[in-house]
Amino acid sequence: MTADVAVVGGGVIGLAVAEELARAGHRVVVLERDRVGSSCAAAAAAGMLAPAAEADTTPEVTTQLALQSHRMYPEWVARLEASSGVQVGLDRSGTVMVALDADDLRELVHLEQAQRRFGLRTQRLSGGEARKMQPSLGPSVVGGLLLADDWQVDPRRLLQALRRSAELAGGRVLEGVEVQALRRQDGSWRVGVRGGEDLAARRVVVAAGAWTPFVLPAELPRPPLRPVRGVVLRLGSGLESSHVVRTPRVYVVPRRWGETVVGATVEERGWAREALAGGVYELLRESRRALPCVDEMPLREVAVGFRPAIRDNVPAIGAVDEEGTLFVATGHYRKGVELAPLTAAMLRQQLEGGRHPMADAVDPRRFAVLE
Ligand SMILES: Cc1cc2nc3c(=O)[nH]c(=O)nc-3n(C[C@H](O)[C@H](O)[C@H](O)COP(=O)(O)OP(=O)(O)OC[C@H]3O[C@@H](n4cnc5c(N)ncnc54)[C@H](O)[C@@H]3O)c2cc1C
Repeated sequence: MTADVAVVGGGVIGLAVAEELARAGHRVVVLERDRVGSSCAAAAAAGMLAPAAEADTTPEVTTQLALQSHRMYPEWVARLEASSGVQVGLDRSGTVMVALDADDLRELVHLEQAQRRFGLRTQRLSGGEARKMQPSLGPSVVGGLLLADDWQVDPRRLLQALRRSAELAGGRVLEGVEVQALRRQDGSWRVGVRGGEDLAARRVVVAAGAWTPFVLPAELPRPPLRPVRGVVLRLGSGLESSHVVRTPRVYVVPRRWGETVVGATVEERGWAREALAGGVYELLRESRRALPCVDEMPLREVAVGFRPAIRDNVPAIGAVDEEGTLFVATGHYRKGVELAPLTAAMLRQQLEGGRHPMADAVDPRRFAVLE
């Protein structure tokens, strides 16, 4: 089999890149080791599009990228929904960030300062005002911030919409295809597949999340990636309004189809997939402090995902070889859903010989001298 571009990995980043390239007329094939949506991080992700709530803990470059991507989101989603027929649940009600005690209130003041530095909309709320926005909040809420521009989307539906749109634009998505090796041969790439025939592609984009280093040829520079495990809980009913609720320790995301996602743990435990009781306990304890109604909700799922994290918490998007034929798009850590439209656009621009103004900041070779 041959392709113009082979994309390794069918997570949110690989599919977003493939959809963008297919729509631009490139002959694209996505090679996904499992089934789409079965083991990628977005299958666990909450889908918050939250530049404001994380403004104080995110590197400035990543926040700048997130803000650009955020601006692209409404139009990107509208196009994907129209082409795929899949509703992805973009909800722009906003986020209520709440404080449960004096320490939390101080933390929110610090966060508010970071938000203002980036020109983000933020508004102080009393406990009563917060409860008016999200009536499910309990009496322990003493104040908060309304983050009108922190939205949410359903990442599982987004994966479906991206896949369908990519296929309708002429792309192919192959499941159960594990890429084992990439070799240069006669001016193109031989993509070695476990138990199957090699594929030839002029260009390759490796978007294999935290597994990316296992796919890249050993002789090329690779970003220092590691998996950061996250656990979320899926509860079987909604909240009284569609506002996302966050405290400094937990977030609670109500979906319009009667589901609530509580997340997330941030764990450095390598590739271990089993969720631990302690993490689940913390999520339940912290969420019910703000939202007592959590007690009465059916626990439907404990989902685990591996966030692809690079040491500086800035993604890696661009070529890793001098010729510009082998690209990576990874390292999106806690923001892969948010950064998907911008990543797809940046990757296409670079693959077609252009250069995005922020390409240097996300250059995958920025660690080459240090490694
Ligand atoms: C609990 C949790 C909550 C999160 N919440 C949010 C949020 O609210 N907002 C947000 O923006 N982001 C969030 N994220 C982060 C976001 O989910 C990730 O940044 C993003 O999904 C990463 O996507 P990816 O496509 O780069 O990698 P992945 O999702 O890891 O996808 C990589 C794909 O490559 C495949 N693959 C691996 N190796 C091979 C191979 N050799 N051959 C073929 N295929 C291969 C894998 O099977 C996988 O499907 C969250 C993540 C977690 C875990």
